[in-house]
Amino acid sequence: MKAVALFQENAEIKLIDVSEPALTLPDHVKLRVLQVGICGTDREEASGGRADAPEGEKYLIIGHEMLGQVVEVGKAVTSVKPGDIAIFTVRRGCEKCPSCLMGRPDMCYTGNYKERGIKELHGYQTEFAVDREKYLIKVPKEIVDFAVLAEPMSVVEKAIDEAVRVQVARLPEAAEESQWMRGKQVLVAGLGPIGLLAALALRLRGAKVIGLDIVDGSTARPKILEEMGGKYIDGRVVKPETYDEHFGQIDAIIEATGIAMLDFELIEALGVNGVFVLTGIPGGHRPISIDGSDLMQKLVLKNQVVIGSVNASEAHFQRAVDDLVQGAKMWPNVMKQLITHRVKCEDMMDVLTKHPADEIKSVIQWSNPQL
Ligand SMILES: [Zn+2]
Ligand SMILES: [Zn+2]
Repeated sequence: MKAVALFQENAEIKLIDVSEPALTLPDHVKLRVLQVGICGTDREEASGGRADAPEGEKYLIIGHEMLGQVVEVGKAVTSVKPGDIAIFTVRRGCEKCPSCLMGRPDMCYTGNYKERGIKELHGYQTEFAVDREKYLIKVPKEIVDFAVLAEPMSVVEKAIDEAVRVQVARLPEAAEESQWMRGKQVLVAGLGPIGLLAALALRLRGAKVIGLDIVDGSTARPKILEEMGGKYIDGRVVKPETYDEHFGQIDAIIEATGIAMLDFELIEALGVNGVFVLTGIPGGHRPISIDGSDLMQKLVLKNQVVIGSVNASEAHFQRAVDDLVQGAKMWPNVMKQLITHRVKCEDMMDVLTKHPADEIKSVIQWSNPQL
């Protein structure tokens, strides 16, 4: 079968031929890959950044944002049958630390976890994938057209979940956990796929969403935000220190830009008792200058929390799938616009090296679902 491999030696990406994986455990599930999304992590891998081949191998099959259709199941598998639509999650725990032992490898202490398509395990940019049932999330057929967004959506679900849990823990008198977002004002920084999916999840929870980016308000991403009832801020025109005058108290910020200077500036916009969740990862080393005392003063005097959040638990994947189902009911037109480019595996390099201006999400189309 075909697979997209990243050769470690020279960071070269090649379409190679590998043998099809087979079931070897009773709880194994085999998926025919339908689609695999491309994100900044894949692009970073392709440009020589973070990516590790499995031990003793020369290449890594890339791809971690997958969607597949079940073709074969082991004897012990009970949750799916051939024909079902499903996804495999990404991270596999170290199986030694307390988090991994309790089924939360997204909070691994040792760093010795593995990730399919990123770190020491082959990924999903290929025709078939096999893994254990416990790493599988079943997907309703009605969202098959965009369920490949479940992995990036799971990252958003964890970020929002953490913000809410921290806030409820700090001020339990204020609201029930399931209701905390209702009526709160949340700033989403960066309207790429993660930001737009965050806006979707937040709107479903009744939050008022303002979305920040640096594109013209008449372009697709601000329009999609507005279709969901969000307000757009053009960061080139409106400065963070004035958000307060424009919008009033900002209760939470979900960040998806990975721009360090902007993140520090945004703390300025965060309101009293606010929570700021960072999901973007700035690349390289770029020293910046900030007024540290002023920053610390504000954090303390305004009771603020800053959280870093990466990856997601199985429960967050499940919530991602549920929210995609709800999103499709509320804003079917929005869901249709999030995947802007669907390309064949032969054109992988084009997608990895170019970043079309109108791109929201690009996916590699491996096969069509048989429904
Ligand atoms: Zn990704
Ligand atoms: Zn661990």
